[in-house]
Amino acid sequence: MTDSRIHHIAIIGGGFSGTMTAVNLARLSDCPLRVTLVNSGYPAGRGIAYGTRRPEHLLNVAARNMSALPDHPNHFVEWLRTRTEYATVADAELRETFVPRCLYGDYLRSLILHCTRSIDRRTRAEIELLEAEAVDLGPEGDGVQVFLSDGRSFAAHKALLATGNEPPAAIPGCDAVATHPGWCANPWVGWENRLPPPGENIVLLGTGLTAVDAIITLLALDWRGTVFAVSRNGLLPQSHFKGVDDPDFPPAHVDFAELGLKGLARLIGEHCERLRRLGANPAMVVDKLRPHTQRVWQAFSDTERREFVAQHAARWNVIRHRIAPTIHRQVAAAVEQRRLQVTRAGVVGVHARGSRIGIELRGGDGAISHLEAALAINCTGPHTRFSATGSRLLQNLLRRGLAQPDAMDMGVRVGPDFAVVHGNGHRSRFLFAIGPLLRGTLWESVAVPELRGQALRVAQTLLDEMPLAAAKAGRWPAPEEEAVIEFSI
Ligand SMILES: Cc1cc2nc3c(=O)[nH]c(=O)nc-3n(C[C@H](O)[C@H](O)[C@H](O)COP(=O)(O)OP(=O)(O)OC[C@H]3O[C@@H](n4cnc5c(N)ncnc54)[C@H](O)[C@@H]3O)c2cc1C
Repeated sequence: MTDSRIHHIAIIGGGFSGTMTAVNLARLSDCPLRVTLVNSGYPAGRGIAYGTRRPEHLLNVAARNMSALPDHPNHFVEWLRTRTEYATVADAELRETFVPRCLYGDYLRSLILHCTRSIDRRTRAEIELLEAEAVDLGPEGDGVQVFLSDGRSFAAHKALLATGNEPPAAIPGCDAVATHPGWCANPWVGWENRLPPPGENIVLLGTGLTAVDAIITLLALDWRGTVFAVSRNGLLPQSHFKGVDDPDFPPAHVDFAELGLKGLARLIGEHCERLRRLGANPAMVVDKLRPHTQRVWQAFSDTERREFVAQHAARWNVIRHRIAPTIHRQVAAAVEQRRLQVTRAGVVGVHARGSRIGIELRGGDGAISHLEAALAINCTGPHTRFSATGSRLLQNLLRRGLAQPDAMDMGVRVGPDFAVVHGNGHRSRFLFAIGPLLRGTLWESVAVPELRGQALRVAQTLLDEMPLAAAKAGRWPAPEEEAVIEFSI
């Protein structure tokens, strides 16, 4: 029987953020602890990004920067060494490799499995995976009650929202084509078995990282039709490149928190121009800003944040979210061979046209044009308007005033320690959030280099908040008493 005094933490979402919080809780806890990781939708331990089974989908960050543990920066590269295919690769080369994302999912699973099936008996957390959708939660006694879609519920002392990326936003007309065989609303669930014959065309709505995943898969499958990709800016992601050392950026005297949006835009403009004159890639400026980006964003006023999103974010994202050079070469070759045609236009709406999908577009000059697709895939990237979330859980939290949108309506409002701010403005004593839900608060809150730090810090906060009674409760079970904890992914 479970000792109710043993601290129990519910984590909602089993992608990178939730999984690594559970791993950190297990690593850091110095007293018995129970963790329930509730996950549904994408594979637990992997989430959307690393749940792909397609080997052509590569990480968009080099191996050297993909350790899941911020206090062990070389951890992922060392783990890769356990793989036969990387055993003899030179260290410098391995560190710069963009490995398949499914392999990164294997890495995350190996970490969580090590904690759940503790082989060294030092792990002090019982981690249980619940394959279920959390649809609501609320205060109960000195803790929280978590409600699941199958009618079950359970009590915990604290809960963490790590619900991650939402599916792409709806496109006008998409409800009417929801069951049409030519429409794919979610690019992350298999559409590869629905490919039209090669004489046909496929239209990708979006030209960012999600569209690149689809293009690379179509090339890997040697699909011979034409792919059209449409977006307002018509820009495909750029390639990672080897930067040169640039000691002049950022200038030592600059206080980023003081710059404001105009000052920042001026500074970036000047340094991009300087790098162009030197024949270097100006995108380096965005990379070198990365350690400061969250601070800059937090120092902006709400007006400046809105202006940044409206005027600079699209360009920023293209420069910031780059792709592996091998992927970039394949995409560039497809453009050159006209297997991939990029159109710069906004999508007005989609509709059924017999067995095909009609797409209405509006160009920069306001002119309307049309495309027809045997298969149209919504690749517009994760939906980011929090108040219009499709998640039942998040809708319920908003409706009941347990959470509120941040000032940008891009995610949930949290305090500096990741505690959710309730609708009445009070810090929650039981509810925390990390991951892409913090985009509006931090701007950079989507990739492993930020999320691993959040997963460690929130684990530390959750442990620090453990009541003394719970910390003292329980003792280590003798080996023969130890329960077998099932983790069935
Ligand atoms: C296609 C793609 C590729 C990417 N590639 C990279 C990369 O190469 N490098 C990098 O650093 N970053 C990459 N990213 C960024 C990525 O967002 C992060 O690396 C990270 O995977 C986010 O993890 P997460 O756990 O916060 O969210 P998610 O991966 O979205 O996981 C959230 C999980 O919670 C589940 N869930 C949600 N709501 C509930 C609920 N109510 N009840 C139960 N379960 C729920 C979801 O189904 C999902 O399994 C990529 C993102 C995408 C979308």
